Amino acid sequence: MIDLLKECEGAKQIAISGHIRPDGDCVGATMALYQYLTKAMKGVRVEVLLETPPPVFADIVGASDIITEKREDTVYDVFFVVDSVPDRIGFAYPYFQRAKKTINIDHHISNEGGICDLEYIVPDASSASELVYDLLDKTYIDTELAKTIYTGIIHDTGVFQYSNTSPKTMRIVAQLLEYGFDFPKLIEETFYEKTYLQSQILGRTLLESILLMEGQCAVGVVSKKTMEFYDVSSKDFEGIVNQLRIIKGVEVAIFMYEQDTLNYKVSLRSGGRVDVSKVAQYFGGGGHVRAAGCNISGTYRDAINNLTAQIEKQL
Ligand code: AMP
Ligand code: MN
Ligand code: MN
Repeated sequence: MIDLLKECEGAKQIAISGHIRPDGDCVGATMALYQYLTKAMKGVRVEVLLETPPPVFADIVGASDIITEKREDTVYDVFFVVDSVPDRIGFAYPYFQRAKKTINIDHHISNEGGICDLEYIVPDASSASELVYDLLDKTYIDTELAKTIYTGIIHDTGVFQYSNTSPKTMRIVAQLLEYGFDFPKLIEETFYEKTYLQSQILGRTLLESILLMEGQCAVGVVSKKTMEFYDVSSKDFEGIVNQLRIIKGVEVAIFMYEQDTLNYKVSLRSGGRVDVSKVAQYFGGGGHVRAAGCNISGTYRDAINNLTAQIEKQL
């Protein structure tokens, strides 16, 4: 285990970053670490370098301090990469490269490590937020910090539904609930609630989805044209791939949207029989056994053919 405060001793400038298009765990873990370090290391400049999180996370304490673009060439004494491999942190990457000490806290099975000075990579962990909790001096936890870690955990476990939820996860959550916060509200507002537009795009994608491999694979696609028509972005697609995965008989769900012309961002979900992190890694992406992602260039037909060929190998 890493002694966070000891590793940050003497540091004047600390950065925390996470992956591009941050999800709930990424936001929860980076913001929990931010709240902790600003509280425990008075007088030290701590900065979070992260793409703008989805609006549902705007109420997290410190979220308004997030730096979403940067021009100064700061050399950080310590640089944390959370819930990601270092080369998936977007605009923050050059700052990572210049930093004096780098620390990676992650739970992606595709993260092979060997890049940062210190690493806490635990593929069995439910979330990076759970790993941040492990490393905290618990005396600094307050209600807001508890809420932030809880938010990260519910997002990566699908509210304790996915198989990455362990007895340890639940023990941590039990500790967090001791701080007393309105968790049903938090779950509804950050996880389940959708805008009308998000519900429409979900409905349309399901309506137009196709089943392949005798119903074992469901595919949903959103084209650039559709995105423009509805005026939606990637933040509005959260949950669609899971909805495809829970169709009876479906072992693997593929959801893709056209990020740039003829370039698709692919999300993969598995019921457990197929290791989708391997499929994603084949296309230069990564993730977990049951949830992974990558980018594929070409027409969506080619993308589907190439993806299903890799999936079929495992089925
Ligand atoms: P998504 O489908 O984007 O929600 O991602 C599912 C899981 O795979 C998350 O844990 C992501 O962090 C991870 N993931 C998605 N895309 C990539 C990628 N290109 N490289 C590595 N991991 C990814
Ligand atoms: Mn994530
Ligand atoms: Mn995560």
